[in-house]
Amino acid sequence: MKLTLTTPVSQITRVGKTTADRLKRLEIETVNDLIFYYPWRWEDLSKISKISELKTGELSTIKVKIQLLSSRRSLAKRKILTEGLVADESGSLKIVWFNQPFLAKTLQIGDEVYFSGKVDFGRYGFQMTNPVYEKVTNGSTTHTARIVPIYPLTHSLTAKQIRFLIKSALVAVDQVVDFLPPEIITSYRLMSLSEALRQIHFPDNQQLLDQAIRRLKFNELFLFELRVMINRSEIRQETAEVVLFKEQETKDFISQLPFSLTNDQRKAAWQIISDLQQSRPMNRLLEGDVGSGKTLVALLAMLNVARNEKQSVLMSPTEILASQHYQTISKLFSNSNIKTGLLTRSQKLINNEKVSQSKMLSGINSGEVKIIVGTHALIQESVKFNSLALAVIDEQHRFGVTQRKHLRENSGNSATTPHLLSMTATPIPRSLALALYGDLDLSIIREMPKERKKIITKLVEGSKRNEAYEFIRQQIDQGRQAFIICPLIDPSDTLGVRSVTEEYERLSGTVFSDLTISMLHGKLKSMDKERIMADFLANKSKILVATSVVEVGVDVPNASVMLIEGADRFGLAQLHQFRGRVGRSSYQSYCFLVSEQNSQKTAARLRAMVSAKDGFELAELDLELRGPGEVYGTTQSGFPEFKLATLTDYRLIQEAKIAAEGIVKKDNRLDGYPDLKYKLKDFLALVHPE
Ligand code: ADP
Ligand code: MG
Repeated sequence: MKLTLTTPVSQITRVGKTTADRLKRLEIETVNDLIFYYPWRWEDLSKISKISELKTGELSTIKVKIQLLSSRRSLAKRKILTEGLVADESGSLKIVWFNQPFLAKTLQIGDEVYFSGKVDFGRYGFQMTNPVYEKVTNGSTTHTARIVPIYPLTHSLTAKQIRFLIKSALVAVDQVVDFLPPEIITSYRLMSLSEALRQIHFPDNQQLLDQAIRRLKFNELFLFELRVMINRSEIRQETAEVVLFKEQETKDFISQLPFSLTNDQRKAAWQIISDLQQSRPMNRLLEGDVGSGKTLVALLAMLNVARNEKQSVLMSPTEILASQHYQTISKLFSNSNIKTGLLTRSQKLINNEKVSQSKMLSGINSGEVKIIVGTHALIQESVKFNSLALAVIDEQHRFGVTQRKHLRENSGNSATTPHLLSMTATPIPRSLALALYGDLDLSIIREMPKERKKIITKLVEGSKRNEAYEFIRQQIDQGRQAFIICPLIDPSDTLGVRSVTEEYERLSGTVFSDLTISMLHGKLKSMDKERIMADFLANKSKILVATSVVEVGVDVPNASVMLIEGADRFGLAQLHQFRGRVGRSSYQSYCFLVSEQNSQKTAARLRAMVSAKDGFELAELDLELRGPGEVYGTTQSGFPEFKLATLTDYRLIQEAKIAAEGIVKKDNRLDGYPDLKYKLKDFLALVHPE
């Protein structure tokens, strides 16, 4: 059968229902999905060693003939033990497998086979334990004797199965349409798309792999830049409500705060208020560390909007965050005549009092409620405003044309677009932000409010983990709570990298078996995530084992310790964001960075977590220290639309930007680039309704 890109995986040879279901859990349903399921790293097993050259502990590949092979049940451990003797011209070696009874059927004496594994010195001399094997044939290899792809998540599929499936799917790779204009491919010396897709899975050598990665990252960045540019040129043509600066009211509001503003807060607030006075919509990004007081700055803007008898909305990614924001806001406005509202799936409040859904919606629709806090989803779905002049968006980078258009249509006056303020705690250095977003307006708060306690950060070697656990227990005994962060959701074949599910099982079964522990990761339903987070917030569980999902800002003031597994796998800026989850109260807080990788370089990088002044310094360091290529696949926070590109791909970001500029200048409706236009069709349909 001829495979096409839309062929369901179930029609690939050897894929039964079970396999298809497992693939579905990885969101792989078609041949196309398989092709675009990129490895997150590669293992170079391409060098063939002689048996006589093998060194203990080193991952090596040998090409040998099987001389002896037998299986037996080991009495002591009730395991199937398979033993073999293999040889090349330099010598012979013992190979041992545990619990792989089918091996004796797949491999036979006399077969010529590649083995990749580590040799160690066992009771009976040198041996290789549980190596990966692949028979030598005329064709190219898949699992050994080459640069081998390692896939991020496998959901109970074996690494071998995934590789086999992707290799089968690649037969159709030439059908993938290369949407990049040929002149760009030429002038940036990019690999063709189909070749890049082949090479990223089964690279012929490191150089071709690098080129493949460059090409695929370029795709992501180029499309991103193109969207940003078209989006911006649209905004420039729109009009917005003019919001006048209410000086006295603003001063009064500030003077009732229990603290004084930092200089950076003043400056940012002033930039925003100046934007609001223009009749062209603001499109500004407000950056600042967790706790630097961004929300307060946004509130000053919202205050001014309310004093102009117009509405503003603050949109959060989760219910809990929305409700936390609302608590702060309603308190600050409690002795003013400005009405505030909270709108989430489970809560409807006006001036901090419960109301019905219909009362809520009519309060917003009539213009009576001036400041509205809610979740992204709800606000985008069902709300009709009366006079929406400002939308503040917390921690969401994907606020694009669709959302803007929706807000405009429901703002109460579809002739004007609300001013837009995005807030993020991702510290993107200015230079990088400009490269990414072009002439984006940017306000940065670097200065932290004075009385913040510094979080005590320590590097912990894997072997000293127990001491950290003891410390966590002491904190819990004192009434506090702890976060434990892991780089992966499910166990993978990558040795030593801890996963949430494994750690959760292990800790709740052993070290902390007497405590309530919960688990949080991105594959859970959002209702479940919210419930787990709410329970943790209510101190119903003592330890939360989680992936990077905790990075987006919920406040758990009672949590005082965070332990981060595989700390070397995260960007510094991202670690910094995790760390910002603790130290949100007067308790002294702690952060333990655990790393199994004890290289000098790793240690130096992680030590910056102890010494750096703030998230920006860390982000800049990251940009210098992590050459692309070092950490492929562990995505930097905040840019979920990139599978490969990260914020460290500074050069490539600039190239993609220049390339996109060239295209937009020439043909901003992309009529001369049908494939590209098709790729962006949903986006363009919104921008240029035909
Ligand atoms: P962010 O949104 O940047 O994470 P918030 O605006 O939520 O930060 O502020 C965190 C906490 O610090 C809030 O309780 C807020 O009231 C307080 N805060 C804000 N600005 C200051 C300041 N200048 N001095 C002291 N505390 C401040
Ligand atoms: Mg915040």
